[in-house]
Amino acid sequence: NLFSALRAAFPADLDQTAVEAASAAGAPLLYTWRDLDRASARIANLLASLKLPEGSRIAVQVEKSVEAMLLYLATLRAGYVFLPLNTAYQSAEIEYFIGNAEPAVVVCTPGNFGWVSKIAFTAGTQHVFTLGDDRTGSLLERAAHFGDEHRAVPRKADDLAAILYTSGTTGRSKGAMLTHGNLLSNAQVLKDYWGWKPGDVLIHALPIFHVHGLFVAIHGALINGSKMIWMAKFDPKAVIAAMPRATVFMGVPTLYVRMLAEPALTQAAASHMRLFIAGSAPLLIETFKEWQDRTGHTILERYGMSETIMLTSNPYAADARHGGQAERRGSTVGFPLPGVGLRVVDDAGKPVPVGEIGNIQVKGPNVFKGYWRMPEKTKEEFSADGWFKTGDVGKVDERGYVSIVGRSKDLIISGGYNVYPAEIEGYINEMPGVAESAVVGVPHPDFGEVGVVVVIPKPGAKVDGDAVIASLKSQLANFKIPKRCFVTTELPRNTMGKVQKNLLRDQYKGLFA
Ligand code: ATP
Ligand code: MG
Repeated sequence: NLFSALRAAFPADLDQTAVEAASAAGAPLLYTWRDLDRASARIANLLASLKLPEGSRIAVQVEKSVEAMLLYLATLRAGYVFLPLNTAYQSAEIEYFIGNAEPAVVVCTPGNFGWVSKIAFTAGTQHVFTLGDDRTGSLLERAAHFGDEHRAVPRKADDLAAILYTSGTTGRSKGAMLTHGNLLSNAQVLKDYWGWKPGDVLIHALPIFHVHGLFVAIHGALINGSKMIWMAKFDPKAVIAAMPRATVFMGVPTLYVRMLAEPALTQAAASHMRLFIAGSAPLLIETFKEWQDRTGHTILERYGMSETIMLTSNPYAADARHGGQAERRGSTVGFPLPGVGLRVVDDAGKPVPVGEIGNIQVKGPNVFKGYWRMPEKTKEEFSADGWFKTGDVGKVDERGYVSIVGRSKDLIISGGYNVYPAEIEGYINEMPGVAESAVVGVPHPDFGEVGVVVVIPKPGAKVDGDAVIASLKSQLANFKIPKRCFVTTELPRNTMGKVQKNLLRDQYKGLFA
């Protein structure tokens, strides 16, 4: 049981602070390691008392709180399957997820009880509890009647621990089935690879319904017995203010961009920090460099996904597997983690030469068991020899560094040629006044597909769309040049900061039709 491994890493002195949070009103709220142990035991005892069938799913859509994390730990402890849901999901989405997952228990916010419980009971759920972000709701009230000791239910490495729905960036979300073995092996590898050590303190400012905040961040701190400074919402000022008391921060790229907009972000402010980690979406090279200039720290970029947890990482220290290379290189996601196999293949499944672009496939103890109730889709996404097709397109250079150039679904095929949006975006982002850009393919009567680019200017800058195209023409082959350029104020992003190219494609699909 993954919980037992995490519990075994708690410090000997259980009265030390494990989580430093704040109430909604801003008053400090401290949790000791003993608190985490006892409170998760009470909730685990409550779940056990429900006598749920083996493998029952516990679906949870609540605001971020320490108690929500305790519910996760309690679910592991009791041997059930945790199923977190994005807090942004509304009734149509919740209806799909609850109908699809058929959870035995649903936990929602007190304010949503009315409509969520209706959907849940219609789908056959037996128990609906509520949990507010201020320790309110029926879950804790009921758990308070149970004892504060609980022995973790034994689980095998292959038993399900969680179902994580993917972010839905490229289409409808799929439920990735992750086992105790998947989660534990990845947590152990990352503890080692990122040099976690005694005294580390993590600033936790990510949502906990996603692989990044739930697994990478929480497991990372717990399995090292490290304190977390817990923030219910990301606030750049609050993170910067916490840096002198912390050592590790994890964020999606947009969080770094927002901190860079704060004058308080200085070398002095970040001097106590040991490590800044980024992932979940591409980190722009400008952000990487600007962070280096401002703080003296080199962001460590890594790559992963709901189906596999973490796959690759830039080195924290010299990597003996790669000739002792220790450089964290911007625009790359580093090396496959120890134990992870990664290959780049063409559309026929044949490995491509070093440095060439192709489809990324992976293998390892971290790779999920399959998509929940989608055996066909699961079969499609694995090669005949057992490698998982990530859906990402990328390359491995001669030094062993992996770069992601996009997703196979975003690839543009124009007049028979492959166009990689990330390559074009790289050139556009270098142009004066450009903050960022997104290139998407839209239908075209002659070429099949052509690129259209959306550019976001830097604050106060003016960018001329025609000039962007003209400048690209002097740098790149004609088949790669987007046919139209739109200048606007914002790219559509989902809660994890990922650009939703499907929305852009929809918006511009009629341009040449
Ligand atoms: P869906 O599978 O539903 O379309 P999704 O793939 O965005 O959604 P997640 O599992 O949350 O859902 O995200 C994993 C994806 O995020 C990866 O496949 C990859 O495309 C992207 N990603 C993660 N880390 C990085 C990174 N460092 N650089 C570039 N892309 C990244
Ligand atoms: Mg995906």
